[in-house]
Amino acid sequence: MSIEFPEAYILAQQMNKELTGKQPLTCTLQNCTKLQNLGFINTHISDFERLCNKTIKTVICQGTGIQTKFSDALNLLLAPEYGGIILFHKKSDLTPKKFQLKIDFTDQTALTVTLTGMGVIHALLDNELYNSYVYRRDFSQTVSPSAEAFKFDSFSAALLKKNVNLKTALVGRDAVVTGLGNSAFQDILYHAGIHPKRKASKLTKVEHHRLYDAIQLVITQRLKLGGKIQFVDLYNKRGGYKPAMASDMGGQLCSICGAVVVTLNFGGGHCCICPGCQK
Ligand SMILES: [Zn+2]
Repeated sequence: MSIEFPEAYILAQQMNKELTGKQPLTCTLQNCTKLQNLGFINTHISDFERLCNKTIKTVICQGTGIQTKFSDALNLLLAPEYGGIILFHKKSDLTPKKFQLKIDFTDQTALTVTLTGMGVIHALLDNELYNSYVYRRDFSQTVSPSAEAFKFDSFSAALLKKNVNLKTALVGRDAVVTGLGNSAFQDILYHAGIHPKRKASKLTKVEHHRLYDAIQLVITQRLKLGGKIQFVDLYNKRGGYKPAMASDMGGQLCSICGAVVVTLNFGGGHCCICPGCQK
């Protein structure tokens, strides 16, 4: 299950609450050779050991990236975007056997990070952050779809410049907003009543508003309900948000108009739509 902006934001807020002021005592890496070879996890444990005895100052989120800032210009950058579980443990002896990174803190608490798909676990100095594609993509230019930073006028203007289909305009490296994956995309387009193969630059102003409102609706609801139903938060609590449209709904009847939901193959994945509601 992918972790998109709402889930990353929930984790970052919980981590900020639990971890601020803590100092790592030890860092342990395991079962991660493949991800290390692909560059998704630092190759040397010594990179993580730089965090030991440094103090956590704050934890922030942008897109699907979670940045834990330490003293002495150090950072832990986590992006479990294709799935992952980040858990806080009150007593370090209760940590699970399966994890890739475990940080034991000086106060006997611990954090474990387990990637279940592709993602990033990087320990980086401030001046190394730009080496990470997640940092370049999520923290540098585009905004997360959170209420404060995400404004209609700039969103609308950015869409007009995108002569590409809506999937490319809203998801991935060149998107006008960061942190939406295929799951949020299908749900948002269904709520907006817009076909995903439409070109972003050809939408009307009214459709821009419908899209913007649908993004706000989906993000707000997912934050409110603790993330998607497959998601578990920092305390191992499951989320409660069920999308109105998802990849496994092909063949079902649309609850609004009764048409049969169809599955499209494009943009590097499956995408379900209601041909009755989405024009
Ligand atoms: Zn419908």
